[in-house]
Amino acid sequence: MAFGRTSRLSAVIAAATLAGTALLSPAGEADAAGTGSGKDAQRKDAVATGFGGAVTTVDADATAAGLEMLRRGGTAADAAVAAAAALGVTEPFSAGIGGGGFFVHYDASSGDVSTIDGRESAPAAATPELFVDPETGQPLPFDEARVSGLSVGVPGTLATWDEALGRWGRYSLRHTLRPAIRLASRGFVVDETFRSQVEGNQDIFADFPASAELFLPGGELPEVGSRLRNRDLARTYRQIARQGTGAFYGGDIGADVAATVQEPPVADDADRVVRAGSMTEADLAGYEAIEREPTQTQYHGLEVFGMGPPSSGGSTVGEALNILENADLSAADEASSLHHFLEASALAFADRNRYVGDSDFVDVPLAELLSQGFADERFCQIDPEQAAPKPVGPGDPDGDYAPCGDVAAVGGAGEEGMSTTHLTTADRWGNVVAYTLTIEQTGGSGITVPGRGFLLNNELTDFNFAPTQGEAPDPNLPGPNKRPRSSISPTIVLDDGEPFLALGSPGGSTIITTVLQTLLNRLDLGMDLPEAVAAPRASQRNTPAVTAEPAFIDSSAGAELEAMGHDFEAMPDIGAVTGLEFLGHGLVQAVAEPQRRGGGSAAVLVPVGRR
Ligand code: GLU
Repeated sequence: MAFGRTSRLSAVIAAATLAGTALLSPAGEADAAGTGSGKDAQRKDAVATGFGGAVTTVDADATAAGLEMLRRGGTAADAAVAAAAALGVTEPFSAGIGGGGFFVHYDASSGDVSTIDGRESAPAAATPELFVDPETGQPLPFDEARVSGLSVGVPGTLATWDEALGRWGRYSLRHTLRPAIRLASRGFVVDETFRSQVEGNQDIFADFPASAELFLPGGELPEVGSRLRNRDLARTYRQIARQGTGAFYGGDIGADVAATVQEPPVADDADRVVRAGSMTEADLAGYEAIEREPTQTQYHGLEVFGMGPPSSGGSTVGEALNILENADLSAADEASSLHHFLEASALAFADRNRYVGDSDFVDVPLAELLSQGFADERFCQIDPEQAAPKPVGPGDPDGDYAPCGDVAAVGGAGEEGMSTTHLTTADRWGNVVAYTLTIEQTGGSGITVPGRGFLLNNELTDFNFAPTQGEAPDPNLPGPNKRPRSSISPTIVLDDGEPFLALGSPGGSTIITTVLQTLLNRLDLGMDLPEAVAAPRASQRNTPAVTAEPAFIDSSAGAELEAMGHDFEAMPDIGAVTGLEFLGHGLVQAVAEPQRRGGGSAAVLVPVGRR
């Protein structure tokens, strides 16, 4: 076993024996029947270790919902769907059936990794000028694009759940929605994160009566500690449980979605311009979650599986790992390792921005981007002592590689919103899910479907509003039925065909660097998974300054990096990882973010110490 797994396993077991119940996870012990029925929603554990399967999400109620499925003999897919449906209740500003996501699955019986692309798609009537103001010919201001029907993509979340359960579930949607229905109808306890996310959207929600009714009770921010119910969503989930996803894709829920997009239900007294979108019931009826080949990269002999286009997650994380395969990070000092991480990220982002979009519409040179030859050519651009001026140019993935080949001239950064949610599950059979879902911005478009209890996404703002590549074609302009490029990076790492790690994060385009940094922390920098998840972060996305958390900037490595020419721009929190490490012999360590965004919730079915 590589990467200290044998010693990690003994250390975890020894710690559990010494500490008695210290490793017992209250979330793991929580009676899932208590979900949403008075349990203190603030009680969260960031780490849980044990057997029989695991769930880790940003939210204790969602983790309990997933655990309930595992306890009933459900699979990792059942647990993932139940947890995601619960997040639609308790984290409605990041997740829900009004959005989309990407689902990565490891099948223990076949050893196969599969992925489902449940990304939102543009309506059939969308054009490359979707976000161009017809009067001025200029791109719309971001907020005007976001809070509109134009930005709403055909949601893919429900189709993803249906597909995942059909392939890998033991339970139907009817069963997996139950914990979430209970949570929505009985209510959940509002925490600080929820309140602050409403606060960030207060002006927008106030302009849409259906959003205000749900999230601004009595016109005010919900109180921390108060109980919030979403009876409309409970009803919507019940209808889907009874009728199946046809109620949404071609049925009356879908009709309500299309009507809301075409005529956003804005308050009469709102002075906001809310543009209408073109989504039709036929767009919804025609939506499909698509099985895609996972991306695959070898790193230190491990196989790293990720999400291919329309996400840029797998190709960008994979390319950066291939570049870094040339540098022996585990032998380097910390600042040098981090310097290589930042430089490799910038190079991989330059290529992502230039080449990656929806591969059903643009020719993405994926195999070349993920080839070791291309990465070796890119590695030569890294000066081990000095940061390159950014943006760096994209490489030429032409199949003809020479170390230190010439690079083209222009780069450019890509930015997305900063909210989403990631969950990771495993079951007693060894199946594993890494699933990231989103409605794009925190609060999506801000528009709730009246009477249905869920927000609509603004995912189409992940398209570029105007060409960004100079003379070269832009792979990420809007188009009919096209899916916007994502950064979502659910990742499963196998060691000799067996699961070793599974993880992912929210955070827009910082998702990519967060997943990469967490992998490097664990695989090269001697950290265990909880340390790797907690460590201060930096994100170099081919921009002049590195976005970094204050603790990173203030560290001694931060000072050394500054001396090497890296400029920093502070961001309070980057990402919020959840992940699993498989310690061997069926033992799993579930890890959630300990602090950022209020911390997450990790649980295992049978905590160590109980057997
Ligand atoms: N819309 C973004 C993407 O798909 C994710 C948004 C986020 O993480 O906040 O890449």
